[in-house]
Order: sequence, then structure tokens, then C-alpha cells
Amino acid sequence: MKTIILAGSGHAHLEILKALSIEETTTNRFVLISPNPQTYYSGLIPRLIMGEINVSDLTIESAQYAKRKGVQYIQDSVRTFDPSSHSIMLESGSTQTFDILSLNTGAQPAEIPTLAPFNTVYLKPFPTFIDKWREVQRICSACTNPRFIVVGGGSAAVEVATALRVRLDRNQARRSEVHLVSKSGRLCESYSEEISAAIHRSLLKNRVDVHLNELVSEIQEKFIVLKNGERLDFDTIFIATPSVTTEPRKVDQYLRLSPDVYAAGDNASLDAYPDLPKSGVIAVHQGRYLAKAIREILNGGSPKPFRPTTNQLNILISGSKSARLIWGNRSFEGRLALEIKNRIDSKYMNGFN
Ligand SMILES: Cc1cc2nc3c(=O)[nH]c(=O)nc-3n(C[C@H](O)[C@H](O)[C@H](O)COP(=O)(O)OP(=O)(O)OC[C@H]3O[C@@H](n4cnc5c(N)ncnc54)[C@H](O)[C@@H]3O)c2cc1C
Repeated sequence: MKTIILAGSGHAHLEILKALSIEETTTNRFVLISPNPQTYYSGLIPRLIMGEINVSDLTIESAQYAKRKGVQYIQDSVRTFDPSSHSIMLESGSTQTFDILSLNTGAQPAEIPTLAPFNTVYLKPFPTFIDKWREVQRICSACTNPRFIVVGGGSAAVEVATALRVRLDRNQARRSEVHLVSKSGRLCESYSEEISAAIHRSLLKNRVDVHLNELVSEIQEKFIVLKNGERLDFDTIFIATPSVTTEPRKVDQYLRLSPDVYAAGDNASLDAYPDLPKSGVIAVHQGRYLAKAIREILNGGSPKPFRPTTNQLNILISGSKSARLIWGNRSFEGRLALEIKNRIDSKYMNGFN
């Protein structure tokens, strides 16, 4: 009997759990280690901000799901691992040994020095964001015209800024402000220039003030000063900058760090595809690949290399009743895109409930 340890209950490992059969978890010992018994589905965070759903609607009870699949759950965090002795050390001080280890521990944005820790909200890690969000909601209702700043220029920042505007409009906070500050010269740089420009126009239409080519290097107690000297006052500042792993895990074309250690999701960087964006869609795709690869290895075979799909489907909220669907260099915006997104999101959530 082999021991397969899944460290982290991110989007990638949920796909492995989903693919496992009871027969497989009886023949071999599968263990899930994660500090949180829940996983939060990021695709639904904009709707949480918009006030359309509750935290429970985007919560996947990953520990319970694992147990139902015959996978042992250990509530702990991985501190270090040693590929040569096939062992991992946990924060609690205990040690586990493995035949195969897979790491899916996510990534976090780099911290920006702040004098306003209570008013600074990092979108990741999600459990911390969810706790802080309850606090922000109190600000939303107590303060008639809140001023929000979102730092970041990728899809997450765009969706958060849009969702905040929708929420404030619903609260009829007419003199509220939403600013988006990005160090890049254009939004969502992984998309074509045309798509970036269309996303920019949507934000302006939603009365989000966009500040490009601006680096936020320090957050003062109630304001930030941009490079051009402009001062932006805020009640809450959201950090949605791209995730950086503290320990980048460079994996080969089999998502392998060393012979029996794998990594997937935001904490994995593929040598062969350095420009592959970090997203939930990619994490899910890598999880499906790893599920097959691990099965193959346990059956004595050898897996084929991982190949990312050339185009990924991305759908970004663009208003209270619309979204923008992006597929390669094509995109369209409207109600239909939002309906497709809602259908994909509920299908994803139903897969675990
Ligand atoms: C607001 C927002 C909206 C987004 N919307 C989308 C979207 O619509 N579509 C999309 O494709 N992407 C979206 N993303 C990006 C997406 O959220 C991430 O790419 C995705 O979560 C990455 O998943 P993951 O599998 O790497 O791990 P994560 O989902 O980040 O989970 C990591 C897991 O590891 C656990 N963990 C952490 N440290 C340890 C440790 N030391 N030991 C054990 N466990 C540990 C955590 O508790 C957690 O369970 C969005 C991001 C944000 C911020």
C-alpha cells in the first residue's frame, strides 16, 4: 500500500479528490493536509462583494468531501519537506512519510508596507479575506459614501473594482469612490490590447477611476500618494496584485519538482510554459492532469507530459447584469456571458455538494 499526500486543498487538489474512486482509496492511503477544512471558490467572490450571495454559497467543505472519498484529513500546514527521506514536517511538529507528495498550497501577493493594517484587505489568502470582508461590509453600511482603492491590474482587480461599484450603487452611495491603481500601462496584460482596452472602457462606464503606470509602494493611514502627486483618500484599500509564491516551485513537464514530488496551481511554475497565467482554470486543468498521472504511476505506468490548452475560457463580471467572455483573442460582453458564467459556477459548486 502506497501513501499519497495531497498538501493543500486548493482548486487543483479538489480535482484529484473528485477523480478518486473508493476502490483507489482502499487500495492505497490518500491523505489531505490543509490548515482550513474549507476551500473558497474564487469565481464567486465578485458576487459575494456585490451582495448577491453569502459566504456559505462559495464554500466547499473540502475536508468532509475528502473523508467521503475515503481520504484521511489532517488539519495542519506543511512547514518543510525532504524528497530524499520522503518525509514532510508539519507546523504542529509531527512528521509524515509519503511515496508520492503533491503540493497545492496556493500563492499570496507581496505585502505592501502599510500604516493602515485594519483598512488594508488582501484578496489572498481567501480565509483571511473572508474574515476581513465581514468587517468591510460594516464599513459599507456605516459610512454613507465609502472610498475604496483596489491595487492591481489583472482580472481579479478588475472584477473586485467592478463588484464594489455595483455594491455601492445598490446601496445608493452616489458620492462613493472606487479607484483602481495598477503599475502596468494596460489592464489584464495577458489578453490582447483590444480586449484590455474594452475592459478599461467597461470600468470607466462603471465609474471606476483607473490609474495606470502607478506603483503603490506604501499605504498611509487614510491615503496614498500616486507618482504624479495625486492624493487618493480611502476608507478601505484592497490588494489584488498578482500572486507571488514565497518559495516558487519550478516544475518540469510532468508537474514534477523531484522524482516523487509534484506541484500544481498558483504555487507551480512550469519551466516549459513560463508565461502560463496563474488562474483557477489552469489549477483545475493541472489537478485533472495530476489525478490521471498519479493513477498511472500507481498502476505501474508512466504519465504523458502536461500540456496546457492553447485558449482558456475566462469570464469577468463587467456590471450588475453583464460579464465579458474571453476566449483567446476574441471577447464579447453582455447578459449572455453572465448567464454562461453563472451556469459554470453553479455546476462547479454542485460538483462538490
Ligand atoms: C477576487 C478573485 C477572483 C478570481 N476569479 C477567478 C476566476 O473567475 N477564474 C479563475 O480562473 N481564476 C480566478 N482567480 C484566481 C484563482 O483564485 C487562483 O488562481 C486559484 O485560487 C489558484 O488555486 P490553487 O489551486 O493554486 O490554490 P488555492 O485555491 O489558492 O488554495 C490553496 C490551498 O492551500 C492551503 N495551504 C496554504 N498553505 C498551506 C500549507 N503550508 N500547507 C498545507 N496547505 C496550505 C490553503 O489553505 C488552501 O486550501 C481569482 C482570484 C481572485 C483573488
